[in-house]
Amino acid sequence: MKTIKDFDFKDKKALVRVDFNVPQDDQLKVTDNTRIVAVKPTVDKILNDGGSVILMAHLGRPKGEVKDEFSLKHIVDEVSEVLGKEVKFVEECVGEKAEQAASELKAGEILLLENLRFHSEEEKGDEAFAEKLSKLGDAYVNDAFGTAHRAHASTAVIAKFFESTKFFGLLMADELKAIDKVLKSGEKPVTAILGGSKVSTKITIIENILPAVDNLIIGGGMAFTFIKALGGKIGTSLVEEDKLSLALEIIGKAKEHNVKVYLPSDTVIAESFSNDADTQEVNIYEIPEGWMGLDAGPKSRDQFNDVLLNSKTILWNGPIGVFEMSNFSAGTVALGDSIAEATNLGAFSLVGGGDSVAFVKQFGYGEKVSYVSTGGGAMLESLEGLELPGVAAINK
Ligand code: AMP
Repeated sequence: MKTIKDFDFKDKKALVRVDFNVPQDDQLKVTDNTRIVAVKPTVDKILNDGGSVILMAHLGRPKGEVKDEFSLKHIVDEVSEVLGKEVKFVEECVGEKAEQAASELKAGEILLLENLRFHSEEEKGDEAFAEKLSKLGDAYVNDAFGTAHRAHASTAVIAKFFESTKFFGLLMADELKAIDKVLKSGEKPVTAILGGSKVSTKITIIENILPAVDNLIIGGGMAFTFIKALGGKIGTSLVEEDKLSLALEIIGKAKEHNVKVYLPSDTVIAESFSNDADTQEVNIYEIPEGWMGLDAGPKSRDQFNDVLLNSKTILWNGPIGVFEMSNFSAGTVALGDSIAEATNLGAFSLVGGGDSVAFVKQFGYGEKVSYVSTGGGAMLESLEGLELPGVAAINK
């Protein structure tokens, strides 16, 4: 893997693609700066070498038009504060103004370009646009894991204009190493926990990880499709009727790969999808008519805990209950505790993809696991075994 550690940026202008697609409030103030914090090590390394940094990013979906609300000028102050240095801004990302601002940049300085997606060529992966961008720097660095699954001008196409001076940033390198640790080089036993609402969105992931894992814990809404396929009564729980035979196929494939599959044995049920509904704890195969399973029960939590404390590598994607409602968050909280304890005992734990990352942040587990991915879609596609265009472009 060719990273910025392999290059001395002294007197070089590094064109760094970052993921600054941050949430903002209605005053356009940044409400979560995680993605900005995440690229600081890359910026610091280039500046410490004696180079300068040109940051390029997108924000929101302006769809090829210039729209003030999506301007990156609104986040410049936050970027300056996080990076601990004044960040210059230019209200174009290609053309004369951008070229002039880039050429005036001195060693140790940082320049942020205007939103790449103000040009429709960015998302089209337009080669001429990528070439114009490439003129701004001497080296290309991709540190935007969150958009690495897109073959856009600035994330992939541009790399061809930097034959020997294209590198992964440190965040990208960490993300790729974490995935590799789980899918290829992880110490055994390896346990994957898949939760969330639907089997259909996780099938490719399950199929791809089976050869790599020893244990597969299936929880959340998707577990009920498996329980029903195995003959259980699931009441009004979430189910994908057209995926019942697929669920059995997955169990069969897991056996072929010697993977132990753990489904919840009990569940917290409710009469409606509401935090105010009456609840009971029951055997997951015997849910009464009119009730739905919304969380893993205490026996399941204990069982998952035993598996996790005996694991050396852990991958977690998807909550195992409706954690957004306090009465159905205990299962996911217990799971978070188990993963934290396993990590404390020396396991490597990776949390990746959408809602589990939201959970980990909201409930304060960020520091208690080994790695929390910054990329939702990019992480899921990696787990599906796809080579991300942003990664392929640098490796080529
Ligand atoms: P996903 O986007 O597929 O990862 O699904 C995440 C969502 O699954 C979260 O919003 C959870 O509330 C939801 N979820 C987890 N367990 C259940 C369940 N038993 N029934 C319905 N939804 C669930």
